[in-house]
Amino acid sequence: MINKPVEKGKKYELKVVDIGNSGEGIGKIQGFTVFVEGAVPEDKLLIEITKAKKTYAIGKIIKIEKPSPYRIKPICDVVHKCGGCQIQHIDYPYQLQLKKNIVKSAVERIGKLENVLVHDVLGMDEPYKYRNKAQFPISMEKGCSIIGFYRKGTHKIVNIKNCKIQHDINDKVLNIFKKFIDEKKISAYDEKSGRGLIRHVLTRVSYATGDLMIVIITNGKNIKFKNELVDRLISEIPQIKSIVQNINTKKTNVILGNQCKTLYGSDKIVDYIGDLKFEISPLSFFQVNPFQTKVLYDKAMEYANLTGNETVFDIYCGIGTISLFLAQRAKKVYGIEVIEEAIKDANENAKLNNIDNAEFFVGKAEKVVPKLYKKGLKADVVVVDPPRKGCEKTVLETIAKMEPKRVVYVSCKPSTLARDLKILDELGYETVEIQPVDMFPHTMHCEVIVKLEKQ
Ligand code: SAH
Repeated sequence: MINKPVEKGKKYELKVVDIGNSGEGIGKIQGFTVFVEGAVPEDKLLIEITKAKKTYAIGKIIKIEKPSPYRIKPICDVVHKCGGCQIQHIDYPYQLQLKKNIVKSAVERIGKLENVLVHDVLGMDEPYKYRNKAQFPISMEKGCSIIGFYRKGTHKIVNIKNCKIQHDINDKVLNIFKKFIDEKKISAYDEKSGRGLIRHVLTRVSYATGDLMIVIITNGKNIKFKNELVDRLISEIPQIKSIVQNINTKKTNVILGNQCKTLYGSDKIVDYIGDLKFEISPLSFFQVNPFQTKVLYDKAMEYANLTGNETVFDIYCGIGTISLFLAQRAKKVYGIEVIEEAIKDANENAKLNNIDNAEFFVGKAEKVVPKLYKKGLKADVVVVDPPRKGCEKTVLETIAKMEPKRVVYVSCKPSTLARDLKILDELGYETVEIQPVDMFPHTMHCEVIVKLEKQ
């Protein structure tokens, strides 16, 4: 057996050269990979090995001998405890550079595509306060409520007073809930025993209209002092358009239950992406960074290059946002999505925007797309926006059989994107250009949009 060059408990010098999937720094000791949380590429560190596995080790920082030029002081005080942001300690322009490298290297290593044009990541001018949806878990410690986010990798909650990537209004909401729960001695849910009432507070806010929705997720039907709580919320935050109770009595990590009861105002709020209007209910899916969503969809529009005569397929369409965006310049758009509720929203959103050239189908893409193709439907342009695992091969094969001029691939996971680009390349679709868009600053998430053309 080859001896490992590192030993648990011992200290080593380490130069950080790369970044891992969860934002941890990566360095080598005699060729052996060491992951270090909180380390930044180009840091020179003294580390201690905390775990030594067969093929890699994990270390913790003992001393930063020479900080990387890209290391900055994060603006959030709980960044090292909270699991929300992974790379807030890295300078934003360099975050974008790292994300570009991740995309480029996936395309080259996994996709085996050489010399493909990968553009610089489209980032935000102001990369804070961008999220329109927050979900705060609540628990009790020594008779006091704790509201915030889960500590990294655990279900212990870190108290949060203000989160730098959320809308400002959340600070007020959190403060009111914390005070009210403590004052009235309302119980918070305990994951272990399954007892206690308030599980989560979820907020959704529209940056376009200012509408705010508050969802109180409870383990049971009755909220003590419900009317007082509602009165306090609406008197202190006039922009509240909707307060909803969501009941979830299951012992599960899933946040929302199926049952919603409107306690105040409307059961939906209104938001916009560009000129398109959307009605959002507590359970609907909606993109969380509306600013960058617009950037992404504008790119989708550019890559689709529509003239008004095209039939477009939008596969994995969610609530039909991309479909409706493209329908404004296409002859016809077909959207395909597996979640029935989402398709219901898609149809309602089409009506809301007076769009009558979009049609939606519920079902798995790998079943529905081949069926539509057999029926004789053909696409001039295809957009896919699959979940992290990428597209099923049958979907890609059927797309190729339809012989569209262009395919636009939107992806939230560079590795599966790269795999699929290779398959599409073999099926006759050449990757022309790749544009990463930073939808989630300070996290390792990486959204990418790709233009492919029929060879
Ligand atoms: N294009 C949408 C959302 C894309 S997210 C937008 O921009 O808002 C990916 C979507 O794929 C999710 O809505 C998910 O429910 C759906 N999905 C997952 N697996 C699927 C499958 N096998 N067939 C069809 N849709 C699927």
